[in-house]
Amino acid sequence: MEEKQLYEGKAKKVFATANPDEYRVYFKDDATAFDGTKRGTIINKGIINNKVSAFFFNLLAEHGIPHHFVKLISDREMIVKTLKILQVEVVVRNVAAGSLAKRIGWEEGTKMPMPVLELYYKNDELHDPLINEYHIQAMGLATPEQLSEIKAYALKINDILSAYLKTKNVELIDFKLEFGVHKGQVILGDEISPDTCRLWDSETKQKLDKDRFRRDLGNVEDAYREVLKRLTGEVM
Ligand code: UDP
Repeated sequence: MEEKQLYEGKAKKVFATANPDEYRVYFKDDATAFDGTKRGTIINKGIINNKVSAFFFNLLAEHGIPHHFVKLISDREMIVKTLKILQVEVVVRNVAAGSLAKRIGWEEGTKMPMPVLELYYKNDELHDPLINEYHIQAMGLATPEQLSEIKAYALKINDILSAYLKTKNVELIDFKLEFGVHKGQVILGDEISPDTCRLWDSETKQKLDKDRFRRDLGNVEDAYREVLKRLTGEVM
């Protein structure tokens, strides 16, 4: 029996399961950028993002980060814990790129002297605006305790992922995380993939992420496949 679809986003669909504590997530090949104004397909992206996310969630669990991932059930599907997603997106940056390079006028590729953490209001209609902790408190998007947990997890995740990726000759430039509440606990949700991270080859600085799609750089599929190969050894 096909379970009820609860949600369809730009890159994923979420379904109920027979277990009230779990959802099934299906990863699509659909790609969007610039607030959904640019649309396309990245062939096999859904498979790669499913596998790469599973890999990163397992890595983070080894370092004590609680997350929603339970298990892979097919090339494009994973089982996750049910979450009430907090309407805050957390971005951590090690190198200036994208919107930050523009906002502060630093050339893309400039190393920040320390990791920079940013908070965004997860709201499509408002185009996910940058907000600060006062906004979050005033809007009731998260409690002060939840916010301090989220920030500590995000910075720890940055340390874990940066160190690991370095061993694979990949530099973690920046990434976006989403957290949610499961049985009263704040845990990491969503995905961690070339859609949500900037990943550059450490030596050549070649982009191995969604910027290849956003900026029409070509070889988009190759870049996604390369990330999967460097992480898991799997050749697709
Ligand atoms: N990001 C994301 N979803 C968003 C916005 C950003 O996953 O809706 C990721 C993006 O891939 C990058 C980081 O967050 O790794 C910082 O993105 P930035 O603010 O530079 O915005 P962009 O240049 O992607 O518009």
